[in-house]
Amino acid sequence: MKTLFEAPLLLALALLLHAEAATAQSTGETAVVYQNASFITGDGSVLTDGVMVVRAGLIDLIGSRASTTLPAGAVSVDLQGRTVMPALIDAHAHIGYEAYTGWGAEYYGQQNIVENLQRYAWYGFGAVFSAGSDPVELAREIEAARQAGDYQGARLLVASGMAPPGQGPNAAFLAHVLAVEERTGQRILRGAATAEQGREAVREIAATGSRFIKIWVDDRGGTQEKMPAEVYSAIADEARSHGIRVLVHQQAAEDMPGLIDAGISGFLHGRIGPDVDEAMARAMAENEIFLVPNLGLGELRWERLADDPFLSDVLPAAVVQRLGEAFDTRQSAGPGPTYEQDLRVGFARLQAASVDIVLGTDAGAVRDHFFGYAGHRELEIFVRLGMTPLQAISAATGRAAHHLGLEDAGTLTAGKRADFIVLDASPLEDIRNTRRIHSVFLAGDAFDRSAFQQTAQ
Ligand SMILES: [Zn+2]
Repeated sequence: MKTLFEAPLLLALALLLHAEAATAQSTGETAVVYQNASFITGDGSVLTDGVMVVRAGLIDLIGSRASTTLPAGAVSVDLQGRTVMPALIDAHAHIGYEAYTGWGAEYYGQQNIVENLQRYAWYGFGAVFSAGSDPVELAREIEAARQAGDYQGARLLVASGMAPPGQGPNAAFLAHVLAVEERTGQRILRGAATAEQGREAVREIAATGSRFIKIWVDDRGGTQEKMPAEVYSAIADEARSHGIRVLVHQQAAEDMPGLIDAGISGFLHGRIGPDVDEAMARAMAENEIFLVPNLGLGELRWERLADDPFLSDVLPAAVVQRLGEAFDTRQSAGPGPTYEQDLRVGFARLQAASVDIVLGTDAGAVRDHFFGYAGHRELEIFVRLGMTPLQAISAATGRAAHHLGLEDAGTLTAGKRADFIVLDASPLEDIRNTRRIHSVFLAGDAFDRSAFQQTAQ
């Protein structure tokens, strides 16, 4: 699965692994054995009655109880028949703008971003990819602070943004992104009107050490200019030569074949309607291009979310009340007559072609599309449309990690980071059991969920 252009990423990862392991050693060399549990490993397999040994923030070994020799002097934890799965990964979000009592550029900053990442951890997420709406240098400082142990939360990955000049996310969001650029003095978006401008901007981004570029290609419902094929092709080509992955906002089928030919890495708003045909699905699979269907965003106002304790437990009471009132007075909501059938057919077509469907939510891009919570809803939608719970979990763990270059995360495998969730009931019986979180561990350390919950209410 490795391609040549991933080599710089692997080098960066090796350095990162080394740094993180060194930090973890100071917190505990003692091995901890987790046993009497089922382990969903994140690569499509399940280990019933398994054991997992964690040491220095990493998974030391994992296997069946019968065939595993436990290390001497280890601390043993009896999980009493619970289920363990890898920490989840959200491959499409926008951190920093959502502050629950309000949304916008005025909230963007270190404090709110750390809160957002802790919220992800409360929901069992170990990493989140924020797609083209962050000042990369600031995000990197916040991620460095996490690695130094200043706070515990989901790992943060960010992308540099590119679009036709003066453009980017939808008009409402764009104004806020530009306001953050102005306040921080750091670039978030770079414009390109020609192929050469595209290449030049990619070289500039490569010099900053960015590993990802997010491009906006479609016309956002006729409100913005489309990015021409020669521009996105040049961007993708130049990015490949720098080992940078290009992830795409493209909500219509029309430019998907051109983008596939251009060699992009993934679709962050992958269209899965009837117009995405078998040939397109096959081309995505052959080129190992992943697709984030991002369906929960469209279904956001269809449920009375205020009634769900999995959300209201970590929101201020005033926000819960506002959510309830907004739902009760909503103008129109709900699917059109062919919505469900179109999705089912499209989803089945992608699955039949073995396209890598990856979990992403676009959480934080609009108000009230909440971090972490949105991911559990997306898992439920995946199963509703035809995935088995095991397939849905792989899409949100091992497969997401692979496509984001997180080779040290996503599966419960010896040598990887000990990022995992302990569940009180098995999600293989009901995908909604991913919500029955007993505890969350990041790099081997328990995340204090009750402390977060108290500050969040
Ligand atoms: Zn987005």
